Amino acid sequence: MSRSGSFMRARIATVAAVGFLGLSLAVGLAACNPGPTTTTGLGSTSTTGTSASTSTSVVGLTSTTGLPPSTTASSAAGGNTSGWPSRPSAEVVRHGPTDKKMIALTFDDNYQMPTAYATLKVLEKYKVPATFFVIGHYVDTGPALAKAIAKGGFEVGDHTRSHANCTKLSKRGLRIEIGNGTDHYHALTGAPIVPLFRPPGGFIDQKTVEVAGEKGFRYVVMWDIDTNDWRGHTAAQITDNVMGNAHNGAIVLMHVAAKHTAEALPGIITRLRKAGYQLVTVSTLLGM
Ligand SMILES: [Zn+2]
Repeated sequence: MSRSGSFMRARIATVAAVGFLGLSLAVGLAACNPGPTTTTGLGSTSTTGTSASTSTSVVGLTSTTGLPPSTTASSAAGGNTSGWPSRPSAEVVRHGPTDKKMIALTFDDNYQMPTAYATLKVLEKYKVPATFFVIGHYVDTGPALAKAIAKGGFEVGDHTRSHANCTKLSKRGLRIEIGNGTDHYHALTGAPIVPLFRPPGGFIDQKTVEVAGEKGFRYVVMWDIDTNDWRGHTAAQITDNVMGNAHNGAIVLMHVAAKHTAEALPGIITRLRKAGYQLVTVSTLLGM
């Protein structure tokens, strides 16, 4: 690469890093709601890029997600780097078996914020095995949080590179996005990862489950209890939501950096355990 090329890349990265903090909350958290009306924050232009060169495709991704282009597009585009066997498609699950009194707490969107560390602290204090779904871009820009997740021994699955709406992407775009979170997390921490994929916003289509399978992901993990914690709900609202809907095999959607999640967790954990539920990782819930 020429000197000017290197400079341009460095400059783009700096601008993106400065800009992303404000953007992440506005776009990232807003994109978590699994409803068709929430797609606007991600931009309306889809990234096809099927006949385009790599650089054109990457530019398209940037405009779609508001995040910097992937620097590993060429390697991410082919196969998976985790050594997981490919399968025709990943299986979509919304809950686990209902014959066991188990519930899985899951945490998305690894924004490096004080609230995220507070959430980790509570989970560690109460010794809750939990599953995190990490975004590659935030592993790169907030490595300390990724390392803290690893240190806590939590289970980690994938939540794409840039929190993209998977239904807006071509297969080529999906190959760049899916698996980037777990790949970057594992490369940074050396900690284990599991073949579980959580689609941003819950948006999936046939090509999403096919590319997830191709990348070796066994399950596309949805949820059946949505705490809506990312909307800024109070600890009481979050708690009522979980307790009012708790059932065998439930998968609870939470966000590690949401404002009142850490505050709500001690009550939720205590009350679920008192009600006889065992808190487990998604892989345990699904008997993987
Ligand atoms: Zn998310």
